[in-house]
Amino acid sequence: MYKFENPVFVTSPIFPPIEKFNERIKMIWDSKWLSNNGKQCQEFERKLTEYFGTKNISIFNNGTIALMSLVKMLDLKGEVITTPFTFAATPNCLTWNNITPVFCDILPDTMCIDPDKVEALITPNTTAILAVHVFGNPCAVEKLETIATKHNLKLIFDGAHAFGMKIGDKPIYEFGDGTMYSFHPTKLFHSAEGGAVITKTEKLKQDLDLWKNFGIANEIEVKLPGLNGKMNELQAAMGILVLDEVNKEREQRSKLQRKYKEKLTNVPGVSFYIPEANVTQSLQYFVIRIHEKEFGKSRDQVYDELKKFNIFARKYFFPLCSSYPYYKDLPSSQLENLPVANEVVKETLSLPFFGRLTEADVENICDVIKYLKTNNA
Ligand SMILES: *Cc1c(COP(=O)(O)O)cnc(C)c1O
Repeated sequence: MYKFENPVFVTSPIFPPIEKFNERIKMIWDSKWLSNNGKQCQEFERKLTEYFGTKNISIFNNGTIALMSLVKMLDLKGEVITTPFTFAATPNCLTWNNITPVFCDILPDTMCIDPDKVEALITPNTTAILAVHVFGNPCAVEKLETIATKHNLKLIFDGAHAFGMKIGDKPIYEFGDGTMYSFHPTKLFHSAEGGAVITKTEKLKQDLDLWKNFGIANEIEVKLPGLNGKMNELQAAMGILVLDEVNKEREQRSKLQRKYKEKLTNVPGVSFYIPEANVTQSLQYFVIRIHEKEFGKSRDQVYDELKKFNIFARKYFFPLCSSYPYYKDLPSSQLENLPVANEVVKETLSLPFFGRLTEADVENICDVIKYLKTNNA
């Protein structure tokens, strides 16, 4: 069986041509300006405005600070209904705002929050729903909007995996009051570290701009107890150049997804979810599920054995947030409330998925998975 010569990880960041980065570095050196909304940051925000097709975008030093700030500027309090099947940053952003996360079970196919289970969790203390487009699978956005409107709740999205995603002609950020994007290097689009919030209203964008700069409005006025969430010039320079590479990256990932799909369809015990045809995908991850009974091995066994072929898959998002020591005693964290999430988290395996991978690499990975079905590594 084919073994990769070097370790293959689930992702590997886009690196723009170094000459172009050197040119940008020279611009920064000449400007004598490193942070506080310099030329690179201004250009980056302008380019993102064009790319996304909205002016209501505020860039940040990372996605976590961006999401914390969004929660704060919407003045959310009390309880916020969210998903346990996400990265730690999602509920932690609530905790930092003295909000209790209320975990809601997920849908078995998209693995996003189950809208039909949200309403039962609403109490007089609920102020919002924080949903996650996990793995770049779109949430049931329309149903969530209907629930939020009906109960007068804010609706926000962790779109860390949703760069460039659309439903039909509608960019994903048009749903809800605000969407956070992460520009961490593990994400399809990155600025070394970075993030952004796209807001429904211009007012909210302005509040976020103020908040991320300590709440300082001008030399004589500090309006809010803000924090330092500013992006710097080096990050912005990277972001500008990575933006030029994103479409190429996406084209390659699209080919790799097709190859995975072709090779893994009809492998008993292996399933995967690909968004419907009207969705412009972000192509953030390629995630399979190993169903132990049909496959003959558990996800954990497959994960361990893949390493012997130098394939380093990831068990995203294990453990569930509801299992963290500081959340596990919440009423909403109890196993009987989250049956689907507790099942899914034992099955998911994120496979290598990045533009420098070839279709032949993907064939090899799939051949190893099929080999492991009937053999031990
Ligand atoms: C990466 C990620 C974040 C955090 O973004 P950073 O830019 O790394 O702070 C938040 N939520 C999810 C779902 C993520 O995957």
